[in-house]
Formats: sequence, structure tokens, C-alpha cells
Amino acid sequence: MQSFIQKTPIARFCTKETVRVRFAPSPTGFLHLGGLRTALYNYFFAKSRNGAFILRIEDTDQSRLVEGAIEQLQRDLDWAGVQIDEGPSTGGCYGPYIQSQRLHIYRGHVETLLNNGSAYHCFCTEKRLELLRREAIRVREVPKYDNRCRSLNPQEVGEKLAQGIPSCVRFKLVAGVQSYLDLIYGGFNYDVAANEGDPVIVKSDGFPTYHFANVIDDHLMKISHVLRGVEWQISTPKHIMMYRAFNWEPPLFGHLPLLMNPDGSKLSKRQGDIRIGHYRDQGIFPLALINFIASSGGGFGKDSEQNVKPKCYTIGELTRQFDVCRINAHSGKLMPERLFDFNRLELKRKLEDSEEGEKLVEEVREMVKKHFPGDSLQLGSEHVRNILHWSVNRVTKLPDLLSDDLKFIWVSPKSYKIAENDLVPIRIFVEKLDKQVLERDNLNAFFKSFCKEHQLKFGSFMKTLRSLLSGLKEGPSVAEMMEILGKENTIERLHACIKNNK
Ligand code: GLU
Repeated sequence: MQSFIQKTPIARFCTKETVRVRFAPSPTGFLHLGGLRTALYNYFFAKSRNGAFILRIEDTDQSRLVEGAIEQLQRDLDWAGVQIDEGPSTGGCYGPYIQSQRLHIYRGHVETLLNNGSAYHCFCTEKRLELLRREAIRVREVPKYDNRCRSLNPQEVGEKLAQGIPSCVRFKLVAGVQSYLDLIYGGFNYDVAANEGDPVIVKSDGFPTYHFANVIDDHLMKISHVLRGVEWQISTPKHIMMYRAFNWEPPLFGHLPLLMNPDGSKLSKRQGDIRIGHYRDQGIFPLALINFIASSGGGFGKDSEQNVKPKCYTIGELTRQFDVCRINAHSGKLMPERLFDFNRLELKRKLEDSEEGEKLVEEVREMVKKHFPGDSLQLGSEHVRNILHWSVNRVTKLPDLLSDDLKFIWVSPKSYKIAENDLVPIRIFVEKLDKQVLERDNLNAFFKSFCKEHQLKFGSFMKTLRSLLSGLKEGPSVAEMMEILGKENTIERLHACIKNNK
């Protein structure tokens, strides 16, 4: 493969008057980190230049469709806060935005290329193509179509078509090195024809291939800039050839480097599930995920880059910081632990905002009710809010608050029978506790002196208190439990026990 990349000052190529960008996923699965990164960078680019962000569904490969993927994709983008200006659900002036609904458009355009000699009918059978492939492998060459049907004359083509021989349409590649200036990588040169045979643009079932439909749609939808994954970079010279064949001006292209694991391996490996839905279900906040992605590929102001103490920026702040010229031309490493840092920061930010804080309280209530059905729950606003404030530096995501250790926060303990002898000190203890500051060190000192004064065994008294407060035999220290529950709840739980034991 002949390709080389050179760094060129590109800032002046970043401009085009009206910015229209698109995210063009194939609905072959669910949105994952790499897809969201592409969507986000397009979105930030559009919004930072008062442009439009378009969602286009590329479903021409009907054999790979996954049911429900289009709807889920839109829900995932919506969850992440990416607002679509034009798309299948939003509509717009350049629709339809689903390629399988645009077949008539592609049909018209293939005629143009056939008529101007840039494309031709190919009647080669699958069997012949397979033989070509095998032969190439045998002689250690890159398998590629030998362009045989290019040389058929119009009469031969007419006859074969009239006989109903199955055919596809291929695009005539232009020989020689093709160059373009990548917004992210700089100058890119590649000899497509040396590396592949003429590509199919319309398959024998009449469906266009990705390359063809993509070019036509980008042109008709007036896309000004194409920002997509680097895996498409070697296809770009081919796409530019097609623009030329139509006599159209191509958009500007920029390719986003790969996202990697910290050890340099491919993201889908090791990382486990990288579906957006998986992060959502785990309790990751949308902004945490966005900042996580944004902090690993560059493209934003200095302070959002890796080495500086992380801050969870809002979408508006990230949009203002975004600059396509700052995107790194090397692979971005995702540091998993940073995601949790961002999540904690986001939890803090939400709590500081009164409206978002309210929503969070509601969210926690729902989550707890769902997790502990049928239990008698403690979910007053004040209590939930206190717990959230306590949790900011202790948990990384809200579902952590459902762990067995912390169940006592939400579930009032069942009534606990204790002997009359044990009840006497508890009564005195509650009265004294009322005057204490509920802070761990102070409480521990208070417990010790109380046990000494009343000649109680420290360990067993703690055990009783823990059971009364939580119904648990193990878990956080009693002082910590009290700190978490707050004075009012602690005293209320102890009083309830005294009452039940009367
Ligand atoms: N449908 C292609 C994909 O799923 C789009 C590539 C492009 O943006 O041109 O990645």
C-alpha cells in the first residue's frame, strides 16, 4: 500500500462559509464510544461555527441491519445531549435522511456516470471474481478486480443487458497518486488504482454501495466538512474522484484518529462493553462520558487536556473551546479511571445546581424504589440530598449507593429485640448523643467514654448499635453510619427501637 502523510499548516483550509456536517452511522449495531466520538466532534464543529448537525442513516447494506438500531441510536445521541438539526425524526430540507429511502436518487445519478463514461456495467460472475482472488493470493499479490468489463463495447453491454445477465456498476478509478489536504492529518497522497480494482458503486440487487451513496448524499445535503474515523481515510481519494466525475466540488475532509486503550490495544478489545447504553446503565452521567471522550483526542482548549486537573465541562463550554486544528493526529488513549473522576465531578456539579439537584434526588428515589421493592424506605428529600452530598467524594456513580454495605441508608431496619438490661444504656446513650457533634473522631471518643462510664463492653455495645441502626452485622463503622444517616435519622432509629422494645 502506498500512502504517506505529511504535516501541513491547515488552518486556512478549515473555513467554508456555511458549515453543514453529518454523522452517518450504519445501523448495524448500537452506538459505541468510537461512534459517539465522531458524532460529538461533528456536533462541536457545527455548533462552534453556527452550522448544522445532520444525522444520516447509511443502511444500504441490508444484510447487516439490526432491528431497532436506528431508534436506539437516536435515543443514545439524545441521552448524550447531541441535538440533531436535520435527520430521520427531525426532518429537514434535504431528506429523506435514511439511505434506503433514497434509492430513486442514486438510480438517477448512476445514469450520469454511465453516460459520461466514468462508470460501466460489469458482468463478471462471483465465480470469476473468486478465481481472481485465489490466483492473486497464490502469486502473493493483493487481490483486486482486473477491470475486465471496462473494455466491453456498448453493443456487447447492450446485448448482455437485454439477455438479463446479472450485472453491477463499477466506477472507473483514475490512475496515479491522488492528493488531498486532510483537516487533521495534513497532506495525504494515495494511489487508489494501484491498490484496488474499480469499485462497485451499484450492486446487482440495485442497491448502491457505501462509497457511491455517501458521495451523492454529502453533495446533495450540502455537507461542507466531513469529519469521520481514520479508517475511511484511504477511501477519501476515491470519493474525491467521484466528485470530479460528477463535476462537483468536494467537501473538506478531516479524519479522526483511533481511540485506544491505555496499553495501545484496540478499544473494543480489553475494554469490555463499549456501548453507550452500557455506560448509561452503569450510572455514568452523559457529561462525564463526553468529557472522557473529549479529553483523550484533543480538539479543545488547553485546560481540558490530559495532564491538567480534570474539570467536567458543559456542552456549551466544550463547544466554545473546540477548534478542529487542535485535534491530535495521533491515536487518543482513553484512561478508564478518568471516567470515574469525571462522573464524580459531574455529580458534584449537579448537586450545586438547584434544578439539577432536584432531578438527581428524584432519580435516586426511583433507583432505590426499583432496587428494594417492598422494603420500608427512607427517601425524604432532605435525607436523599444529605446522602448525595456525603457520597460526592466516596462513590463514583449513583448505583454504588445500592451496595449491601449501604443498604441501611435507604432501608429502615426491622424491629430488633434487645434485653431490658441492654435497653437502659441505649436510652441514656440517645439523650447524650443529641448533644454530640456527628463527626467520626468525636463520635469514636464519645463511644469510648460512654462505655467506660457505664461499664459496657465496647465491642458488644457497638454491635448492638450497628444492628439497631442498620440491621447489619457488618458494614461501615458505627460512627460512619451515624455520620451518613445524620443526627435526626440516627436518633429516630434508636427511638423506634426503644419504643418497639417496650
Ligand atoms: N456509514 C459509515 C460508517 O458507519 C460512514 C462513514 C462516513 O462518515 O463517511 O462509519
